[in-house]
Amino acid sequence: MARSQSNISNSAIRIFLQEVGKFYDKERGFDPFGPKKHQKDELLSFFNFECCFCGVQIDQRTLSQDHLVPMNKARLGLHAWRNVVPCCKDCNNEKKQRPWQEFIQKKAGGLAKERKDRIEKFVSSKNYDPALDLHVYADNLYEDIGSVAMTLINLRLKQAEEGIKKILKK
Ligand SMILES: [Zn+2]
Repeated sequence: MARSQSNISNSAIRIFLQEVGKFYDKERGFDPFGPKKHQKDELLSFFNFECCFCGVQIDQRTLSQDHLVPMNKARLGLHAWRNVVPCCKDCNNEKKQRPWQEFIQKKAGGLAKERKDRIEKFVSSKNYDPALDLHVYADNLYEDIGSVAMTLINLRLKQAEEGIKKILKK
């Protein structure tokens, strides 16, 4: 049961971060990040059609999106302009929740500094603030939604149990 509760809470956090991301984009004057085709193009051309970590060539078809600040309970990265960078599928699978600064060191070798600067330039070009602190809202959401969901599930579970008992008695 505890596992299901955290699954529900984690899903809620992702939805929350997507919605906050849309708002954050609008407030900064952007069309909320989809990504739509022209938005993917913008990402790709900023990074010269290269994976931002390992440098392999990518295009619309092979593009994977990585959230620099991960979209999870601990880090609360937004699905928004400048938190999403273009990378190859291998890097996306490999990076997981690791800090990108550490990951790029491993993938870019001698070009790590250059690629790191490019990402930083990208992030600051549209004032995404990685220090934006949403914990005050998200931590409550995480706790509340889990307990509300479990209350509802347990209520309906009892009713279902009563229904099953009745049928079995017939
Ligand atoms: Zn890559």
